[in-house]
Amino acid sequence: SGAPMGKLHGVVIALKDVICYKDHKVSAASGILENFTSIYSATAVERLLQEDAIIIGNCNCDEFAMGSTNENSSYGPVRNAADPERVPGGSSGGSAVAVQSGCCMVSLGTDTGGSVRQPADFCGIIGMKPTYGRISRYGVIAYASSFDQIGIFGNNIPDVAQVLQVIAGADEFDSTLSQKPVEDYPALLQTGKKYRFAWLREALEHPSLDPAIASAIKEKIESLRKEGHTVEPVEFDMLEYIVPAYYILTTAEASSNLSRYDGVRFGHRTQQPGLDLTEFYKQNRAEGFGKEVKRRIMLGTFVLSAGYYDAYFTRAQKVRNLIRQRTEQIFAQYDFILLPTSPSTAFKIGEKTKDPIEMYLADIYTVMANLAGIPAIALPLFKHPNGLPFGLQVMANRFQELPLLEVSAQLMRR
Ligand code: GLN
Repeated sequence: SGAPMGKLHGVVIALKDVICYKDHKVSAASGILENFTSIYSATAVERLLQEDAIIIGNCNCDEFAMGSTNENSSYGPVRNAADPERVPGGSSGGSAVAVQSGCCMVSLGTDTGGSVRQPADFCGIIGMKPTYGRISRYGVIAYASSFDQIGIFGNNIPDVAQVLQVIAGADEFDSTLSQKPVEDYPALLQTGKKYRFAWLREALEHPSLDPAIASAIKEKIESLRKEGHTVEPVEFDMLEYIVPAYYILTTAEASSNLSRYDGVRFGHRTQQPGLDLTEFYKQNRAEGFGKEVKRRIMLGTFVLSAGYYDAYFTRAQKVRNLIRQRTEQIFAQYDFILLPTSPSTAFKIGEKTKDPIEMYLADIYTVMANLAGIPAIALPLFKHPNGLPFGLQVMANRFQELPLLEVSAQLMRR
């Protein structure tokens, strides 16, 4: 008799192109890493393989996970399987469409500011970002290290719960990880509990929110109340600050993380002859990085520069602390916070590329969870009058993945 079957025996899984798998290419969808081969596997990948998962390949994404549409990729855009003229969302767009189109059962993405939840929302599937510190970042190409977290795409809650149970938990290669034991999520998805939900008035009444999305979520709030849950509005006066704080802090971290791509130790190297050392570095980076990555390196370098450090970086850190405190206060009284995931459904490829600020502002509902380090999930519950899917976002307090998955199973059952 052979060895017992692993928990993921025969489960077909795809990886975002920022997650290392030994002896396989990984490029973060960037020219600067063209033809780079991983020399080790991410901890999450090791754990999937130990449980007999089948890794079928890596998926396109926005370059270095910077974007919301998967248009910032050296491989070109990914198309939404619900409508090939539309974006799948990003940055983990390829991972989302791989599950949406049935190429695999589950996939991994990364979520620094919504890159798992927002493409799940645009593609009509589940996307979960766990607590910061729940899944090892070892072997994940860094964008903004104090925000980055692996997330999971799937079609149902038991699949997501099983993969989370396998890949979560302490790892000696990532010192930011929690030592908290991992719960047996799939075994504990019993339903029927009554919970306390908060919803943020400022979020549901925000002028940027598509009215059909707002009304679907308001109806859901009513029906939860009728079923015996407590659902109450809370004030959250910091909504306008979360996107600026997120972009200051993440571009600062990115400018530091991406300084390693100099074309010397690895990565793209220019063919141009006769350059001195500084010109050589500059040319490697000028040729290798795409436009959005360059924009963010410059923004991040600016907010960290001597004369501006306190005005931008220090102040954004203070805002982050306030957001964490305000979020804690809500969770002292409620189990979950309900939010939209994105202010709109999937838009056309090319439709929003001209205005990066508008694109950044659309991250309004997802970056709160990353700033606070809390777990959040996008659940595909609705269909817009335009025919496209969208979902409900549920956020929980730190390390409350178990109740988050349990309530998600309840919500999905309807
Ligand atoms: N859209 C966000 C950004 O562009 C989210 C990215 C992410 O989560 N990796 O930064």
